[in-house]
Amino acid sequence: MRAAVLHGPDDLRVQEVEEPAGEVVVEVRAATACGTDRKMLLRGHPILGGYPARFGHETAGVRVDSGERVLVGDSVACGACFACLAGRAAICRSPTWVLGGFAERIAAPEAALHALPEGLDFAAAAMAEPLAACVHAVGRGTDVADVAVLGGGTIGLMLARLLVLSERDVLVCDRHAERRAQAEALGARASSSLGSHELVFEAVGRVDAWEQAFAATRPGGTVVFVGGCPSGTSLDLPTGPVHYDEIDVRGAFHHTREEIDRALELLASGEVDWRALAGETVGLEQLGDALRRPAGGEARKLIVDPRQ
Ligand SMILES: [Zn+2]
Ligand SMILES: [Zn+2]
Repeated sequence: MRAAVLHGPDDLRVQEVEEPAGEVVVEVRAATACGTDRKMLLRGHPILGGYPARFGHETAGVRVDSGERVLVGDSVACGACFACLAGRAAICRSPTWVLGGFAERIAAPEAALHALPEGLDFAAAAMAEPLAACVHAVGRGTDVADVAVLGGGTIGLMLARLLVLSERDVLVCDRHAERRAQAEALGARASSSLGSHELVFEAVGRVDAWEQAFAATRPGGTVVFVGGCPSGTSLDLPTGPVHYDEIDVRGAFHHTREEIDRALELLASGEVDWRALAGETVGLEQLGDALRRPAGGEARKLIVDPRQ
């Protein structure tokens, strides 16, 4: 079968590989891409392991054995570490990662699979992976009404939509007018300046944006960092506001199995309109060029259909 294989930083080849062997084989119908895939392509990533490596972690398709339509979750928590035992599977200490959605077929453990709600498109189902991370991030926040999201990329827009659904007053801050228009279409307010708020979500993934989000958090408020920064970077937090203003600083990473099912429900019900976030569909051959293209304008997810 054909698969996209990373052979080194920015060395992506679409090639014939062995048929996948594993608990369950799934024929891929849609694999969506995100900033993590771009990072994996251009500079590698700790969870890739060594080269050659397969990638693609937002994957939906059809089980070869039963014909059932499934989302292939990108990880299975161990269930035994202290984090899992404490009910925090999102930060499991030894998860099994399931990568390789950019291929005709993928093998996955049964425990990684989620049945799709009736009628849900494969591309929509694939987006349940990032949406689940946003469900998780919202859960890391508080329930105040005054909320801002820094960054109007697909994660920022998903966060904004979830917060609008829970009847908050949501401001999305982004310098691109197209993304501000998308935020407004999802029911949020939009601006190119952040102001100050009781709850702030950072959805950019750069240290300067983390600092900006922290600075925009009101005394007594909470900041949730959602965007992953390059590894090895650190944050220079002023101690004053953390101490005297009791600003809560929280990270948000990944999701749990239950959060993926919740994301699938939100997509199936239309409460989160996946079409508003769907971009072009390409085949495996176009994946590299599409990931390398600089982001700009509207925030939309690239969809890979390996049958194209
Ligand atoms: Zn992703
Ligand atoms: Zn665990």
